[in-house]
Amino acid sequence: MITLKDEQIPKLMNAVVLEKPFVLVHKKIPIWPLEEFKDPDLLLIKVKACGVCGSDFRYYQGENPWAQHTIGQKIENPPNIVLGHEFSGIVIGVLNDSNKKWLGKRVIPICSKTCGKCAMCTTGRENLCENTIHMGHGQGWDELEYYPGAYADYVIAWGKGCFEIPESVTFEEATTMDVLAVCLHMINQGNVEKGEPVLILGCGPAGNGIAQIIKIIDPKIEIFIVENSKRAVEVAKQYKFNYIINSNTKNEEEIIQFILNKTNGHGVNSIFDSIGTESSFNLGLSLLTKGGTYVNMAVHDQNITMNQMKLASERKITTSSNFLIEEYKQTLKWLGEKRINVKTWLTEIKLSEIPKIFRKIVDENNRGEYFKIIIKKD
Ligand SMILES: [Zn+2]
Ligand SMILES: [Zn+2]
Repeated sequence: MITLKDEQIPKLMNAVVLEKPFVLVHKKIPIWPLEEFKDPDLLLIKVKACGVCGSDFRYYQGENPWAQHTIGQKIENPPNIVLGHEFSGIVIGVLNDSNKKWLGKRVIPICSKTCGKCAMCTTGRENLCENTIHMGHGQGWDELEYYPGAYADYVIAWGKGCFEIPESVTFEEATTMDVLAVCLHMINQGNVEKGEPVLILGCGPAGNGIAQIIKIIDPKIEIFIVENSKRAVEVAKQYKFNYIINSNTKNEEEIIQFILNKTNGHGVNSIFDSIGTESSFNLGLSLLTKGGTYVNMAVHDQNITMNQMKLASERKITTSSNFLIEEYKQTLKWLGEKRINVKTWLTEIKLSEIPKIFRKIVDENNRGEYFKIIIKKD
């Protein structure tokens, strides 16, 4: 390995390991054996910040949301996953000369690598590649002692998917790139180009990112947001979104009437759902106009009931999985230009606090004041 000058790389590092569902342990583990992965494009990165993704809470509970979303299958997670796929840091080690240019750079790498050979990869849909290798969960790796992720002092990534962080963006802000690229991909599955009103169901980081990006694409598009968390409503109010409806204060019928009134009975042409429940579907489909598209990004292993007539007049339901590299580049440009603002989202914590915070949020079902949690490293 070619390392950054004066950089001492220890044998052991701090990591938070998901040993099995509901068991997260902060402990020392061996540093990633870069050479042993037999991929000369790999880089060793000193983690500066790592976002806690909503999907991390699902891995914690034994779900595999990547497999559900991307290939529509239930796949069991291996033991000993180091979670964390939304990371930024400094490149301190590379394996080949062509990656030497990354040494010492502040980077925000894409957390996955696709095969480049399958039917999806060769037709421009690499976001649906079944052979994806992923940081932060067990996907795509051979059997390992610990599966790489960034809830740790160090993480690995690929030179080909590496991007430099614009000077205007902090390490903490940069960690939101994964979710922001997912947001743009989701928008590209809808009908936003038509300029008609949009409904966003669930305004956590994904819903908020979608709303911000729609306002960049076309500031005239009217955005309706339905959200039940007090904190997420407060965050949304800091942006120029048109209508923020707290679903704790209105029932389904009142929400439908409110949006129909505001749209002259027309409804909305695109819906972006990050909740994905029977009630979110039934609410959304009551508001989708003829020819409109409903994009669901929260695919659960469940059957839901709805009336087929809600899909009459060429209304469509689709899902959205991951993102394409061009979407990542576009979003990073907007973040660098400060057209996307994520500063108000972030709550910084220490790596060692992760097990306690997961227990509070999942086991005690108490989201507290968190909107987007970021592990900040020294
Ligand atoms: Zn994520
Ligand atoms: Zn592929």
